[in-house]
Amino acid sequence: MPDVLEDLNDWRRTTYSTDVTPNLEGKGVTVFGRVVSIREQGGIAFIILQDMKGVVQVTVHKNKSPVTVSDKIGRLKQYSLVGFKGSVRSIAKAPHGAEIIPSEIRILSEPQKKLPFDPYGRVEQSIDKRLDMRVIDLLRPQSQAIFRIRSVVLEVMRQFLFEEGFIEVNTPKIIASATEGGAALFPLLYYDKEAFLAQSPQLYKEQLASVFEKVFEISSIFRAEQFRTLKHLSEAISVDIEQSYVTYTDVMELLERMIFYVVSSVNSRCEDKLSSLKVKLETPKLPLRRITYDEVLKILEKDGIGIEWGDDLSTASLKSYSKMFPQYHFIIDWPTSSKAFYIKPKRSNPEICESFDFMCGSVELASGGSRIDNRKELAKKLIEKGLEPKNFEYHLKIFDYGMPPHAGFGLGLDRLIMILTGVENIREVVLFPRDPQRLTP
Ligand code: ATP
Ligand code: MG
Repeated sequence: MPDVLEDLNDWRRTTYSTDVTPNLEGKGVTVFGRVVSIREQGGIAFIILQDMKGVVQVTVHKNKSPVTVSDKIGRLKQYSLVGFKGSVRSIAKAPHGAEIIPSEIRILSEPQKKLPFDPYGRVEQSIDKRLDMRVIDLLRPQSQAIFRIRSVVLEVMRQFLFEEGFIEVNTPKIIASATEGGAALFPLLYYDKEAFLAQSPQLYKEQLASVFEKVFEISSIFRAEQFRTLKHLSEAISVDIEQSYVTYTDVMELLERMIFYVVSSVNSRCEDKLSSLKVKLETPKLPLRRITYDEVLKILEKDGIGIEWGDDLSTASLKSYSKMFPQYHFIIDWPTSSKAFYIKPKRSNPEICESFDFMCGSVELASGGSRIDNRKELAKKLIEKGLEPKNFEYHLKIFDYGMPPHAGFGLGLDRLIMILTGVENIREVVLFPRDPQRLTP
């Protein structure tokens, strides 16, 4: 019935749901939001309205309300978007101890179709069904909690890095050649040429660190791997930092301080969200454990898991070893052959490089290291990795004009949010996830 719908006109919100408290007793307020539920009992209608902050109860005593209100309440549908003007009344049983007795109601929009599932209901839907209708899914209190925590993490991470003197940069995502080689790139047609989506801002951030000294970028990375796991996506968000005149030990310290700051901030600012997700976050004790790759291999050997020196740690081996290290820690000093071409080998033993993975249990959250800052050495490493130096000339030539020693890391934001919100599937923490099976919505 379109005739019940009205325009916003001069109505504006005066109060958010969660600010409707006994302090406002008798005061007039205007609230907006979505109707979560309508419950009728003995001539009284109890409406729960959700807005961006939470919920508020609106109570209509049918025989005491203006006719227009009772009339419209009779036709009000669940999930409609409405505004109420009314006065606040304390009542212990209502959310935050107060309700609204409305004098006017405006129905601004109402559903034309049955929702695919009830976002406020108790029935668990499969993640695929929820992702197919992600915007409806985002009304769920758990989704709300996850994405509000995610936003706080982004805010405080930026705050931390700005306070450390970093500047935020944006590098191109359409690129001419692979950063790290390998096949994990999405090709695309760039006018009449072949181009790729960037798998990392690595080379650009190194170049920028040579002039700005401390740079960071928070943006999409694209990985064209054929995975079927709960912690990979085809498009992920990476927090990349690069800093001049430091080594990998310095950027590990920066990273652990950043994690400490993020966890403390989420604990103090998102208490209600964490408790709705049933998550308790322990603030990490610094310095975090640093375990060498060789030590990890020894631990695995005791567990009967043999890893060939030089190989990456398989998911199964990480699962086993992480029983001993379920918290945040670093695995350091990886075999040079297991890391990308730009990672600096140790002077004392070039078989090992100045590198680290930042872990939480078996989940890799970040990789970083000191970088090679010498053109000849970098060109040699490209060849060793089967890459063509001429494809990297645009990068190598920068080194001819002087390159400071530098180090940095790439931290997977989505993976960090998984850990902070206690979810198993990375898709839960990404608004519109991309994986080999999913390209919409
Ligand atoms: P993995 O071994 O887990 O596939 P990686 O070593 O290939 O990761 P890096 O190139 O080191 O990944 O990227 C830095 C960080 O970016 C990773 O530690 C991870 O947190 C995140 N990341 C990388 N690839 C993905 C992906 N496909 N989906 C989600 N996050 C990713
Ligand atoms: Mg890595």
